[in-house]
Amino acid sequence: MNQVDYLRISLIDRCNFQCQYCMPEGSELEYVRRQDILSQDELLTLLREVFIPNGFTRFRLTGGEPLLRPGVVELVRAIAALPQTQDLSMTTNAFLLAGLAQDLHDAGLRRINISLDSLEPETFDRIVGNRGRSRWQQVWQGIQVAHHVGFDPLKLNVVVIPGVNDHEVPNLAALSIEREWHVRFIEFMPIGNAGLFQDKGWVASETLRQQIRDRWGLVEATVCGNGPADVFKIPGAKGTLGFISQMSECFCDRCNRMRLSADGWLRPCLLNEIGQLDLKTALRSGIPLSEIRLQVHQLLSAKPEINYKQRESGTVGAYARTMSQIGG
Ligand code: SAM
Ligand code: SF4
Repeated sequence: MNQVDYLRISLIDRCNFQCQYCMPEGSELEYVRRQDILSQDELLTLLREVFIPNGFTRFRLTGGEPLLRPGVVELVRAIAALPQTQDLSMTTNAFLLAGLAQDLHDAGLRRINISLDSLEPETFDRIVGNRGRSRWQQVWQGIQVAHHVGFDPLKLNVVVIPGVNDHEVPNLAALSIEREWHVRFIEFMPIGNAGLFQDKGWVASETLRQQIRDRWGLVEATVCGNGPADVFKIPGAKGTLGFISQMSECFCDRCNRMRLSADGWLRPCLLNEIGQLDLKTALRSGIPLSEIRLQVHQLLSAKPEINYKQRESGTVGAYARTMSQIGG
């Protein structure tokens, strides 16, 4: 049985981008009210008293856009300082990263994943839903600063969408040759924007691997914190290429994670809401921490069955929430 020791923590459900594949087209998302977002104290109490005693030691901060969370640097410092924290990382769109990278690193963040779906400013702006000044340059600047500050490994996440950015796969893969950057190609899932998914479809990781293999060759590799990614490298490259294939190769049986939303819902699975726990209400209504700890313990015991059910139903379905709401 997999040890479930990895918690993805959404710091905020809002975002300064509206990526085509993440946010539903034409409809406004309902955001969590400010007072319903777990405070820093509540989050730290849950980590110390509930998650760590249940064996969680690895934490990823995500969102929405985590860098929009007021006090994000303090929060990073506090989580990094917990003696049981073995690994702390963040997933960000990097729009605000240039100004925060050094402080985040000083606070104890060492690993970062940055979404970068295109190297073409126009395509990038189309994907992130930008109608004003181009956002690409500022994101690229954020990546450069993160590199100089010393984030290691520095991973770049690409969601590949046919007819949108699939022509850029070789250029994006080439980023791993000269620099120690780890480019990860993620299969587009019908979560967030099912209309776009139906319209465009998705590209299987193996198709991308073949394209890269034909051009440069590809050998197996490893990188710290590879999670569900299959990792390879172009021979001689400094960085690696990861492929996250949740559409073509269901990895529910290997799942080692749970997700905590910004308003305190603990979900054992990204793709369904079986067993979810409302930890914010439990905490605020004064339920003893020992009781909350036990509820999470029971959910951990139920997770293999939840993984099994999800595996049976497959990845394609209708999901009520976007990645930005769950904490992707
Ligand atoms: N805002 C941050 C970012 O974009 O990196 C963190 C939150 S975002 C929800 C986390 C990850 O979810 C990103 O790497 C994004 O590409 C991925 N994601 C969102 N919607 C997706 C979808 N429909 N299919 C595959 N990946 C998706
Ligand atoms: Fe925002 Fe990240 Fe979703 Fe893009 S993928 S809209 S940056 S939460």
